[in-house]
Amino acid sequence: MGPSGAPQSGPGNRAEIRKAPDAPPPPRRAAGGLWRAWAGSPALPWLLSLAAVLAAALIAGRIAERAAIGDLRRSAAATLALQVAAFRTEIQKQGSLPLALASDPEIAASVGPSPDPALIGRVDERLAEIARASGAAVIYVIRQDGKAVAASNAGEPGSFVGAVYAFRPYFQQALAEGAGRQFALGTVSGRAGLYLSRRVAGPGGRAGVVVVKVEFDAIEEAWRKAGREGAETVMVTDPRGIVLMASEPAWRFGTLQPVPDEERRLVRERLEFGAAPLAPLPLHPAADGYGLVRVGSGALPARLALPLDAAIPGTTWRLHTLTRIGVAVARERVQAQVIAGLAVGLACLGLAEIVGRRRRLRASLAEAAARRSELEERVRARTQALTEANRQLKAEIAERQRTEAERQRLGRELAHAGRLAALGQFAASMAHEINQPLAAIRSYADNAGILIQRERFPEATENLAAVGRLTERIAGLTRQLKGFARKASGRRDPVALDQVVRASLEVVEGRLSGIDLALALPEPSPYVLGEGPRLEQVVVNLVQNALDAVGSVKNPRIAVTVRVTGERAVLEVGDNGGGLPDGGGQVFDAFFTTKANGLGLGLAISRGIVEECGGTLSAGASPEGGALFRVELPLAPAGQGAAA
Ligand code: ADP
Repeated sequence: MGPSGAPQSGPGNRAEIRKAPDAPPPPRRAAGGLWRAWAGSPALPWLLSLAAVLAAALIAGRIAERAAIGDLRRSAAATLALQVAAFRTEIQKQGSLPLALASDPEIAASVGPSPDPALIGRVDERLAEIARASGAAVIYVIRQDGKAVAASNAGEPGSFVGAVYAFRPYFQQALAEGAGRQFALGTVSGRAGLYLSRRVAGPGGRAGVVVVKVEFDAIEEAWRKAGREGAETVMVTDPRGIVLMASEPAWRFGTLQPVPDEERRLVRERLEFGAAPLAPLPLHPAADGYGLVRVGSGALPARLALPLDAAIPGTTWRLHTLTRIGVAVARERVQAQVIAGLAVGLACLGLAEIVGRRRRLRASLAEAAARRSELEERVRARTQALTEANRQLKAEIAERQRTEAERQRLGRELAHAGRLAALGQFAASMAHEINQPLAAIRSYADNAGILIQRERFPEATENLAAVGRLTERIAGLTRQLKGFARKASGRRDPVALDQVVRASLEVVEGRLSGIDLALALPEPSPYVLGEGPRLEQVVVNLVQNALDAVGSVKNPRIAVTVRVTGERAVLEVGDNGGGLPDGGGQVFDAFFTTKANGLGLGLAISRGIVEECGGTLSAGASPEGGALFRVELPLAPAGQGAAA
């Protein structure tokens, strides 16, 4: 990844970004997309629910309607049976009357050729009495030629007496067969009724007919009244389908089916129903599958009715009922529709709620999952960043350690170079320092040779001893120079401080006689990190300086003390000599010396060694009046000392 990496990748990225808008747009909804759009539309569930509600209402309404009409049919059949029984009773009540009257002698006599007017009067009275008692409309007696001779309404306006009934089928039937019956409009009264006739055997082989006219006004009135209160429409038809009586007055003489022209002519001739037009009734089959009829036509409001009919026993007639499909059925249908619609609607709402809840649950789960994965991603990114930071930190630490080691190495080399440079500077003074003893050795040696020749041996010996001392001085100089030039190894090993002190004292043992040496070493000894021989050099130097300082005092005392203070070991060398010159400010400077034969290097080199070991060397006044030098060194870490 050089500086060339970015420009190379840059144009590539730009090309990709530019390309994106040119890419073909995502495919729109393909075939079936319309359906998917519908299926995905929020209106679809509502439309489906609406359809379900409507279908349920429709089906439930139909079922309820069917059941209600079934119930209605059963109750209408019962009503029909009751109506038939009532109507039959009404006819039967009058049915036996003609037979009883036919066997009456006075009535028989009244159909004779010239009946006694008193007899006729009595018959009229009897007939009126019987009619009142039986509820018959009119009772009358007809001669063989068809003329009425006696009647219950004789003497009243519109009396039947004198009228001719030869053309009436009930008359002809009774003459021919003994009994007859006919429903017709009255020619005189103009009122419809059932004529029941019976042949009467009159005197002299003459025959007559007694007729009881039954009118159904009362029963019709009862039907009408019930009809007004909402009950069924009732009517009675003859075999031709012509309505003889009905609860609806307008329906009388209407027809259930069209009457043929021939029949129509006959009806006219017999004056059966007067001038009635025999129009079809306003009934139309309703296409609903229940066999219902629609009642009414034109301006009349059409209403549905259930038609039932039954034969009236003892007659050729049929009794019809038209039961209104009233509000009850509609109510039941509407109730069922409402209940079913509500139930299905509630079910749909419940379903919608369940579906909605599941959808919401799914959405919230998805949201939670998204949040979780986002969080995980953030945690991952953060972890990655931390790992990267950690790696960088480690690299920096390693780099710093490397730099530090390098710095230390450079520092050591610099010190070494510094020392070498210093060595160069004082090389001249060194030459001078060495030349002096060399010149002295020369002259001592020359003198010794001369003294030996003169046999002045003791003096010669003294001169040779001086040569020895001078060579010793030169050896000391070179020794110190060697130590100064030696480069520190950089190694630091745990060193027992008491051993350092003991080894140093051994070196200077020869000079210690007559000196009061106070040695204080702790048990066990502290360990410090450093180089044993170099630390010994320091201690030897300090003790030698102390010995130099106490050389001229009366009770020379030197104290060497080792102790531990906190993390450091402290070594002190004190004396009761003359103390440091001029406050001691210069004693650590190289070549500073107050001694005639001193080099002024001992303390400078000692301080360098101590500092290489991570410690300090300082000088001050001792409580005894002399000087006190203090070496502080860091303790070796616990465990390392024991191992050493
Ligand atoms: P040298 O001993 O060769 O003089 P040093 O560097 O060891 O060199 O000492 C420098 C000087 O410090 C000495 O000359 C002396 O004046 C002074 N000095 C050192 N130790 C003591 C001491 N214990 N008491 C008094 N002066 C001291």
